[in-house]
Amino acid sequence: MSVTSPERPAETTTKRVLLAAPRGYCAGVDRAVVAVEKALETYGTPVYVRKEIVHNKHVVETLRERGAIFVNETDEVPEGARLVFSAHGVSPAVRASAEARSLETIDATCPLVTKVHKEAVRFAKDDYDILLIGHTGHEEVEGTAGEAPEHVQVVNSPDEVDQVVVRDPAKVVWISQTTLSVDETMETVRRLRERFPSLQDPPSDDICYATQNRQVAVKKLAPECDVVIVVGSANSSNSVRLVEVALQSGARASYRVDRKAEIKDEWLEGATTVGVTSGASVPEILVQDVVSHLADHGFGSVEEVRTATEDLMFSLPRELRAGLKAAGEETKRPRREARKELPQV
Ligand code: SF4
Repeated sequence: MSVTSPERPAETTTKRVLLAAPRGYCAGVDRAVVAVEKALETYGTPVYVRKEIVHNKHVVETLRERGAIFVNETDEVPEGARLVFSAHGVSPAVRASAEARSLETIDATCPLVTKVHKEAVRFAKDDYDILLIGHTGHEEVEGTAGEAPEHVQVVNSPDEVDQVVVRDPAKVVWISQTTLSVDETMETVRRLRERFPSLQDPPSDDICYATQNRQVAVKKLAPECDVVIVVGSANSSNSVRLVEVALQSGARASYRVDRKAEIKDEWLEGATTVGVTSGASVPEILVQDVVSHLADHGFGSVEEVRTATEDLMFSLPRELRAGLKAAGEETKRPRREARKELPQV
């Protein structure tokens, strides 16, 4: 994926990398990946996982090699088997289907996605029309909308606002997918409010802390960058948004790559400052591979641009903790990856 913004002169002659912080794994991804690892360790194979546990090719391939079996739907799982729900969440219909097959489920839905589900349930109960800002077809949106299909309509972008039809303009609320562009979402809300002045806000931010923090860090470094490389998979919403944010914030070009092998030499031609960041589902090792690749191409100086410090960590899914406890195993866990300290600018 590549997009180019207007020409901007380079401001420094020393080839350098600006490394965004925070980047990479968020608390919800960390919890979901550890949940599958622990399930494999504790119960052995097979452990089935509905959809990609998180939207990252490397993570999915690694877990598959360790014995996880990824399926699209519950009816692909043998009756009574163990199934993990992904970090993106599932609708009540999926839960019911798993129950009907007597599956032993482990719910790795990120608690911040669950929070949005609860909002949908509550506003539906109060008979609101719920405008879910998000991307049609994304698993998280399917799960949230499935909580109250009769009340929810999905609004993909500001351009769709004019097509929204509600029963009572005085009883409308918006909620959102957790991994959107903050700026675009606010534009959608602005336009919705023009049409529906009584539009109610969600009780708290639905775009999660990790999505917001990664966008803020990219906004800070992008104006200094000729190129911003975002490590992340094509189906990772927050990774794709980071490319857009980099361009909107002044980077001359921005590219998303799954791994360093996808970086093209021509992207670096004439560049003196390369920004690097990663989506919330990306292991740090892939970022360090990119940094090494850039060092091999003369970008040996690495400076971290930190805009926030994150220390949130979620406990493992309840069903898994119960299983670990029964097996006499530790239910707490150390932080997954210690971040390498780098000089800050
Ligand atoms: S990106 Fe946000 S909502 Fe999604 S798993 Fe991470 S913390 Fe949870």
